[in-house]
Amino acid sequence: MVIHGAGFARRPEEKDMDSSHTGSVPAETDRPGWFTQTLTQLFMKNAQVVDRERVADRFHLVTLESPQFQGFDWIPGQKLQVRIGSGLATRTYTPIEWDAENGRTRILGYAHGNGPGSAWVVGVARGEACHVFGPRASLDLRGAIGPVAVIGDETSIGLVHALAQHPERQVRGLLEVDDGARVRQAVARLGLRDVDGFERQPDHSHMEALVDLLPALAAAGTCFVLTGKAASIQRVRRVLKDLQVPSGRLAAKAYWAPGKTGLD
Ligand SMILES: Cc1cc2nc3c(=O)[nH]c(=O)nc-3n(C[C@H](O)[C@H](O)[C@H](O)COP(=O)(O)OP(=O)(O)OC[C@H]3O[C@@H](n4cnc5c(N)ncnc54)[C@H](O)[C@@H]3O)c2cc1C
Repeated sequence: MVIHGAGFARRPEEKDMDSSHTGSVPAETDRPGWFTQTLTQLFMKNAQVVDRERVADRFHLVTLESPQFQGFDWIPGQKLQVRIGSGLATRTYTPIEWDAENGRTRILGYAHGNGPGSAWVVGVARGEACHVFGPRASLDLRGAIGPVAVIGDETSIGLVHALAQHPERQVRGLLEVDDGARVRQAVARLGLRDVDGFERQPDHSHMEALVDLLPALAAAGTCFVLTGKAASIQRVRRVLKDLQVPSGRLAAKAYWAPGKTGLD
């Protein structure tokens, strides 16, 4: 993995998120009402967390198992919504792979800060039950021809892995990140090689370094998948438009936007 911008000022060493995280998942003693229970039973799958591995700092690999996952015809790029707490609130994650025989999947959750999804990713324990909605359609690259570049951030690593499951597809990740060294650890754990990390700079100059790579990729017939922060997607989309990348070679999905919670 290549890190662009390593050596720039970095935030102070993070504390162990397991102990310092302040996000909270509503207490399970808040029993769901009949309406919530009915909708959960009708539309959600029962799953169990069979493993949670902290792969690097804020990155947690969560393995979910459910008999209802068995035989499912997963399409890489789909999303899975995990119910958070006792209401109907969910947070969205990307299955990085799918074992239809054993009814297992994994997600790579990035605990960015204070939010119930981050708290779940950090605090969920092996053996815990959960409810999930999906997998459902989100980004479908089955028709894509040629190499694929996923442009995003920490939340997009799972998607890079999912799309790279295709044996003949060349997938490259171009990701803006807070901490290149930690992202390198997470990426290595997943066995991904073709990922460039651009460490965020206060003046957003890291995005200039990232978009500098786009003309060569566009000329090579690359399909672009834009994910992560909404404002960064807009910026990259403008550059790709100027490069006259046809809309058929472009897919985008905002994963988060400052001030907005629980985008799906
Ligand atoms: C289709 C789809 C697939 C996704 N796949 C993944 C995945 O595989 N792994 C993963 O980790 N995330 C993924 N995400 C992103 C994840 O759902 C969001 O980051 C979500 O907001 C996290 O929930 P939360 O409860 O921690 O924060 P929220 O309660 O939703 O948000 C609280 C605050 O944090 C901000 N925020 C949210 N995410 C970030 C971030 N990454 N960095 C900085 N600030 C942020 C919000 O804007 C808000 O102001 C995906 C999102 C979508 C829509």
